Amino acid sequence: MRRNRSPGFNTRAIHFGYDASEEQGAVTPPVHFSSTFAFENVEEAALAAVGQGEAFIYGRTRNPTQELLESRLADLEGGDAAMAAGSGMAAISSLFWSLLNQGDELVAHTTLYGNTHALVAEGLPRFGVTVKRVDLADPAAVEAGITEKTRLVFFETPANPDLAIVDVRAVSEVAKAQGALTVVDNTFASPALQRPIECGADAVVHSMTKFLGGHSDVIAGALIGPEEVVTQTRRHGLRYLTGGALAPLSAFLVLRGLKTLGVRVERQSRNAMALARFLEGHPKVARVLYPGLESHPGHAVAKAQMSDFGGLLAFELKGGADAGRHFMNALKLASRAVSLGGCETLVQHPTSMTHATYSAEDLARAGLTHGLIRASIGLEDEEDILEDFEAALG
Ligand code: PLP
Repeated sequence: MRRNRSPGFNTRAIHFGYDASEEQGAVTPPVHFSSTFAFENVEEAALAAVGQGEAFIYGRTRNPTQELLESRLADLEGGDAAMAAGSGMAAISSLFWSLLNQGDELVAHTTLYGNTHALVAEGLPRFGVTVKRVDLADPAAVEAGITEKTRLVFFETPANPDLAIVDVRAVSEVAKAQGALTVVDNTFASPALQRPIECGADAVVHSMTKFLGGHSDVIAGALIGPEEVVTQTRRHGLRYLTGGALAPLSAFLVLRGLKTLGVRVERQSRNAMALARFLEGHPKVARVLYPGLESHPGHAVAKAQMSDFGGLLAFELKGGADAGRHFMNALKLASRAVSLGGCETLVQHPTSMTHATYSAEDLARAGLTHGLIRASIGLEDEEDILEDFEAALG
């Protein structure tokens, strides 16, 4: 056995930042519900108010349970610091409102989760931020699209809902050369499978509602990145621009979810791979989008930057939208529901559900069709999932 080795990912996901001996031996960390924190004297409080010292002040910006989660997230993603938020959208909007000013340019990939799309297509331009949509999965478009005017580059990989793969290393290099920050939404992969900061990105955001929480019972988000970016987003974004704080009990639920993240995504990836192969060979299926399949255009890049391919896949039936609707209504084990990354297999129809915020032109530019079905593969037995899909296709 190698000595002086630092603990592995799963060990850190269970233990990092917590010392039970400081909490009367409690193996599970306590939840601090206090919304406010007392000071010894007024002078100490005044220093804390201007960001000096480590004291807690008020639960909207920092609380001990959030702080344990934040230190663990920073460690798992390989970032300097982290900020937990009340949802993925709270983390993303707090970051954008903190870093972008009137006249700045944001470059965002053509396909994004529906409400992130709404934020960049409608929200930011209302306040004078220029938004340029670029197909960041296309290296030529990356070179042409990111210029010296660009302040921030933002994308998901794999992207929601079409599982497009963006080369984190290549895009970060172009962005860096132009003086822009690269921020990756790592929700679909999770740090168990992909760590964008290690590939050159500046920061990562998450909807922790998904794989990190892992049990479809919490809404939560996070930003992980350089100290100055996280501090600015906490002091401005979280404190007075969005107020999107994470509740202590929700922070606890994510800490609990993180303990099993590694084993969950391993099994979800295995189940998804089996289903992707089954669907690819089915006569009623027109195409399957799963980064683990050799037929996926981003397969080689995914293989280089991910340790496995994750629990999400998308597909289209030869009968188009009508056949898709029929199929979805016939499923018995899988639920028809938005969200992803939980223990249960969920199936949804992006253009009428998660991506209903897209206009017809936006859908066409992103290549999203009404026949597309997205599935988040759960932890059920592989044979049961395959049987359900096979029966519904029949
Ligand atoms: N990013 C991605 C890739 C998502 O899929 C979602 C939600 O589905 C979000 C961000 C937003 O996260 P939340 O629902 O926690 O606000």
